Amino acid sequence: MNNQLYDKLIFELSHEGRQGYSLPDAAVEFHGFGMPAGLLREKPARLPECDELTVVRHYTNMSNNNFGVDTGFYPLGSCTMKYNPKVDEVLSGVFAEVHPASPDEHVQGVLKMYRELQRALSEIAGMAEFTLNPYAGAHGELTGLMIMRRYHELRGDAGRTRVIVPDSAHGTNPASAAVAGLEVVVVKSREDGTVDVEALKPLLDNTIAGMMMTNPNTLGIFEHNIKEIASLVHAAGGLMYYDGANLNPLLGRCRPGDLGFDIMHINLHKTFSTPHGGGGPGAGPVGVRAGLENLLPSPRVIFDEKAGIYRRARTAETMGNVTGGAGNVGVLVRALAYILTLGREHIKSVGPLATLNANYIKERLKDVYELPLEGVCKHEFVFDGLKDKSTGVTTLNVAKRLLDYGFHAPTIYFPLLFHEAMMIEPTESESLETLDAFIDAMRRIAAEALSDPEMVKTAPHATPVCRPDDTAAALKQEVTLDLIKQA
Ligand SMILES: *Cc1c(COP(=O)(O)O)cnc(C)c1O
Repeated sequence: MNNQLYDKLIFELSHEGRQGYSLPDAAVEFHGFGMPAGLLREKPARLPECDELTVVRHYTNMSNNNFGVDTGFYPLGSCTMKYNPKVDEVLSGVFAEVHPASPDEHVQGVLKMYRELQRALSEIAGMAEFTLNPYAGAHGELTGLMIMRRYHELRGDAGRTRVIVPDSAHGTNPASAAVAGLEVVVVKSREDGTVDVEALKPLLDNTIAGMMMTNPNTLGIFEHNIKEIASLVHAAGGLMYYDGANLNPLLGRCRPGDLGFDIMHINLHKTFSTPHGGGGPGAGPVGVRAGLENLLPSPRVIFDEKAGIYRRARTAETMGNVTGGAGNVGVLVRALAYILTLGREHIKSVGPLATLNANYIKERLKDVYELPLEGVCKHEFVFDGLKDKSTGVTTLNVAKRLLDYGFHAPTIYFPLLFHEAMMIEPTESESLETLDAFIDAMRRIAAEALSDPEMVKTAPHATPVCRPDDTAAALKQEVTLDLIKQA
């Protein structure tokens, strides 16, 4: 129900002299605040001139063109697009005005909240201590790997410059390792999708800093050899890093610390009530086992027993700073609110329900979609396209056609282990009715792929924007650039 008038660019809606507000003349005259004369504008910027109602309609219409968790089912694998309770949002807003540079004495409540969240995450993950500083999952990985490097450095074991990563790993793992100055060694998976322990053994020597793993892995499969893998890596002098971006299926049931991991991160913007997607803000807290606490980044939020206050502190052994402040407060409040509203009792239901929902969809679709790995999955699973590929309908086509049925597409063409990968993660928060409606749409598309393949290949047909040229959209941005140049 979009009004095409407001579908234009905001610059096209501009009329000279139109205003939303009349601001009083500035009380202080502008003298450039000491900025070099050559950098000052000669004439005012050309900004769109619009009345307030036009602006409100423009942005509201634009937001209606978007798909989000609040508009429909969003089974994007590896992303945990679950419901984020609105009460957490309200609580988060309370802290919007806190300045990161406020003195500790002025923000005791906030620092106490940080301590409580550090304690709660440590208990959930089976770690000794957490830092809440990092802003994202990949940022957490980098922080964790720098802790790993610092650990070896402090022991005088500087020759450990390589890190082992399974071939099923999320792309951020090898990228973070490279940024941390570590060389990546890939270990391959077996037929069943888990790490090949025999292939791992010959890789372990005194150049290995550690190993990064996700469990359940990116295929949604639990690495049942994890204890053996951890003891092999430890025996070789390395540390185990857990990519806990997808902690959802383990919540309250299984703790990475008990599986033998030494360092880990969690994506609060997946599992703990911050909307994921759209580029942030997020948080990727990093946890460590006992003995590594002092290596955590600065500042560390601690309770100073002597002074009786919460403080942001720095240790001598710290790996350094990874942020300007102590973490994204709004995201952290949501996480603590989420944990406290579920409590010890109900947090245990999250993983089993997420797992049940994923298996329900998998079992009800596997006769029409290709299931490369049989068996019980955890929170997500991967199809390798349609079972009957004779009409040439691809995973991309199915993904686009799903939009016509009002569903967001699953993650597609990832992981790279299968050509037509389609990775589905329903999460625990969806009702049986929603799952059934999604299954119904997927089955109808499988039937359409045989009866009317052209229609599926040219989908979507019912969205505000149908088939943009993906490559051109990324590479040719003249429309906006021209307007910016004019401004
Ligand atoms: C999402 C994800 C990441 C990266 O998290 P960002 O916050 O996007 O940096 C890392 N590993 C896995 C397994 C993930 O699913």
